[in-house]
Amino acid sequence: FDLKNADLKNLAELGQGNGGSVMKVEHVPTGTIMAKKIVLIDAKPSVRKQILRELQIMHDCKSKFIVSSYGAFLAEPNICICMEFMDKGSFDGIYKKIGPIDIEVVGMLALAVLEGLTYLYDVHRIIHRDIKPSNILCNSQGEVKLCDFGVSGELINSIANTFVGTSVYMSPERIQGAEYSVKSDVWSLGISLIELALGRFPFSDAGSDDEDTSDLESSSEHHKTAMNRDSLIAIERAEKTAKRHNRRRSKGVSLHGGGMMMSIIELMHQIVKEPAPRLSPEGRFPKEAEEFVNACLLKDPEERKTPGVLLAYSWMKTSRTSTFDLKEWASTF
Ligand code: ADP
Ligand code: MG
Repeated sequence: FDLKNADLKNLAELGQGNGGSVMKVEHVPTGTIMAKKIVLIDAKPSVRKQILRELQIMHDCKSKFIVSSYGAFLAEPNICICMEFMDKGSFDGIYKKIGPIDIEVVGMLALAVLEGLTYLYDVHRIIHRDIKPSNILCNSQGEVKLCDFGVSGELINSIANTFVGTSVYMSPERIQGAEYSVKSDVWSLGISLIELALGRFPFSDAGSDDEDTSDLESSSEHHKTAMNRDSLIAIERAEKTAKRHNRRRSKGVSLHGGGMMMSIIELMHQIVKEPAPRLSPEGRFPKEAEEFVNACLLKDPEERKTPGVLLAYSWMKTSRTSTFDLKEWASTF
């Protein structure tokens, strides 16, 4: 494909992210339906070219667990990335539409994500960096695939300031400024699995019960000085996201309650200081699912399992041999 905007007909808007928007388009010369991601970047021409070069790696990512790429091009001041259109959308949209996702489906999704992460890392040495339900897509074939992985370091830098959203799925060590590792992705997977199984984001503001009755301002100040610049940027981004969510959803929102938005500082504090969330209530889900999620959410990255180790967990064995028909399931919404 020699992609250019003139050949792409807009069909619908698929969603708005923090870096830009995603459109359903038709590549008119070939009749191919694609998802076109439009990213506004603030970068010098030399950096833009570098980003385009880096995005070429996406072309070489060929796995049934990874959304395939048709190519990327510059359309000043944007970069457009054309990818496989996944007609059932992302899992955040799916659970918001149909409610909590059947744990059997969640298990099969976990397996697909681990396979995808393993492929990206083993074959391309790529860490995803942005695992969350909106980057896990589904199509009417019942296939589950990852998108929006961190192929381009320069792109990550260039959109850093608008690259919101991720931080609520961020691992404790990332919040504290550690480098990304494949284990940070595993944490984000654990949070995402709970969110899908419960049908809501697993951190809630109902908590903060006993301790920390100090007023928010001073506790925020305290955490600010305790955290580095990266985490502060992350917090600001997450605040924007929380506000967006706050506006969009009418009820059942976990980032705020009773009209009050949970302080993102508090959330970051909770992620770092409090025990990790779990699949709850205990006994509602299969033991092997609980065990798997707990292994994803070990707070110490040294202890946390790698995708390779997790693939050998019994829940993954169960999911691999499941006869559950995802295609049939995907036809129900
Ligand atoms: P985010 O992932 O933070 O929601 P994005 O800009 O990456 O923001 O994506 C916006 C929305 O577009 C996603 O939530 C998803 O529902 C939809 N989307 C992204 N890529 C595709 C795709 N390849 N096929 C179908 N829908 C997509
Ligand atoms: Mg995305």
